[in-house]
Amino acid sequence: MQQPWLSISQNSDFSIHNLPFGIFQKDNRPPAACVAIGDYVIDLAAAFDFGLFSKYVLAENLFRKPVLNDFISQGREFSGYVRSVLQESLLDPHSLLKKHAETLLIKQSNVQMLMPIKVGNYTDFYSSEEHATTVGKLFRPDNPLFPNWKHLPVAYHGRASSIVISGTSIHRPMGQINRDATANPIFAPTNALDYELELAFVIGKDSDMGKPIPVEQAEDYVFGVLLFNDWSARDIQRWEYQPLGPFTSKNFASGISPWIVTMEALALLRSAPQIQNPEPLPYLNHPERKGFDIDLTIAIKPENDDEYVVSQTNAKHLYWNISQQVAHHTVTGCNLNVGDLLATGTISGNGAKSAGCLLEATAGGKQPIQLSDSKSRRFLEDGDEVIMRGFGEKNGIRIGFGELRGKVLPAIG
Ligand code: MN
Repeated sequence: MQQPWLSISQNSDFSIHNLPFGIFQKDNRPPAACVAIGDYVIDLAAAFDFGLFSKYVLAENLFRKPVLNDFISQGREFSGYVRSVLQESLLDPHSLLKKHAETLLIKQSNVQMLMPIKVGNYTDFYSSEEHATTVGKLFRPDNPLFPNWKHLPVAYHGRASSIVISGTSIHRPMGQINRDATANPIFAPTNALDYELELAFVIGKDSDMGKPIPVEQAEDYVFGVLLFNDWSARDIQRWEYQPLGPFTSKNFASGISPWIVTMEALALLRSAPQIQNPEPLPYLNHPERKGFDIDLTIAIKPENDDEYVVSQTNAKHLYWNISQQVAHHTVTGCNLNVGDLLATGTISGNGAKSAGCLLEATAGGKQPIQLSDSKSRRFLEDGDEVIMRGFGEKNGIRIGFGELRGKVLPAIG
């Protein structure tokens, strides 16, 4: 294989095959679009000005914007073209990219990553059978999986305004808690703060209201994927969730990783077809039913301590895939817009060591997990930082997501 002129470490998430898109800021300059490569970002706004993408005629520089929505709206043909120009340029020692490398390549450690998209709507699914069964048992021991679960991808409409970029700390939320369902609730800081490890798919094309997206065409409407942390307050959730689902237990914050890994890059990581029994109804029955083989880890880093890996799981365990989720979401005629997020729901494997949240790993807080000899956790404590990572590898090619970090601060007030 031809090697790029830029040195990229073998275990970098950002190989020449990945090239995920993000928004960066350096010093006080305006934010701009970029791509990750090795330890660097490529400044796409400046690359556009140097004429790197001149074969594609655009009315304006779509990279000099505070979010990627307009760039994504241009379509997969354009983003695919940008990717191929960058791949060729990284292999060609006489390219414009190499010539202007001092301006165009900036160390990731010298930039700040910002929210890559303006999220209009966010929907959270519940697509891991392991997660739905284990959590269902905690809330309803006799009836863990509702009868609808294997017939449709269950979801709720989440809150978009409080989605924040990796590195954003969150305050422990306050809310109504009723520890003993027969008493009156109290108002207090949550005593059961949790994370949920998920992937979020970024919608890349508007659909028309009144026109369902057929399951076979669903991926044409997806631009790429991020890591997603659906922060959750379990004691608040337990009291409020019936009958309409979670509300304030989840609306205070959700975190996303800064890099959108494109569907083109993820094509390398397709998993074996999912076995679904019973057969889904025809509108959900994708002929291939393929997910993604992405290794995912969660670490907790207590204040002034090292980080401890508490879970290792994989996205291939998911029962419902993105095509089925898009088809179901739009089957009523509901439209999707560029920048909408469709999150998978907590991704868990079998057993506590592959649980995507603490609720599962600790059996509802009853069996603490050990971080070290002296530290254990039922749920998150103030000062804890949660770190999520994901990558896939095939034929020696690595496609990674980087990190999603978020720290817990004490409750306000
Ligand atoms: Mn969730």
